[in-house]
Amino acid sequence: MKNRIGQGLDVHQLSTGTPLIIGGVSIPFKMGLKGHSDGDVLYHAIVDAILGALALGDIGQYFPSTDESYRNIDSCEFLTYTQSLIREKDYEVSNIDATIILQDPKLSIYIAEMKKNISQILAIPTEAISIKATTTDYLGFIGSGEGIAATAVALLKKINGN
Ligand code: ZN
Repeated sequence: MKNRIGQGLDVHQLSTGTPLIIGGVSIPFKMGLKGHSDGDVLYHAIVDAILGALALGDIGQYFPSTDESYRNIDSCEFLTYTQSLIREKDYEVSNIDATIILQDPKLSIYIAEMKKNISQILAIPTEAISIKATTTDYLGFIGSGEGIAATAVALLKKINGN
């Protein structure tokens, strides 16, 4: 297949005493994302979108939360591994479009750095990465500040076009 598309969704709980890391950026906030890893909801959604495009399962199969070696791991490792799978299959990422869904804090000043991080790991230009942020207008678990979600779609293209 010349082009393959995938989508990913991830949710993590917000809790005190944990750093808030989204898109590889440490964001000053009173709470952070709880997870077996660093809880980077954006990286996880992008990993699942890419794995989905390649029909290679989901992030939990590669990095199970029962595996102690992944405790508090930098999710950059997950994205780096996913990049190796893309290359193994002779694909490259055409573009990514992601949305982070959260009530607080405001992310606009961190988006450029997130794009830079992702572009370096996936070896694609920042122009190929879109990251948006939205709230749920105070509705539901996101609106009440209990958690943060992220969704992503990724389009992959076959290298050499075959
Ligand atoms: Zn996750």
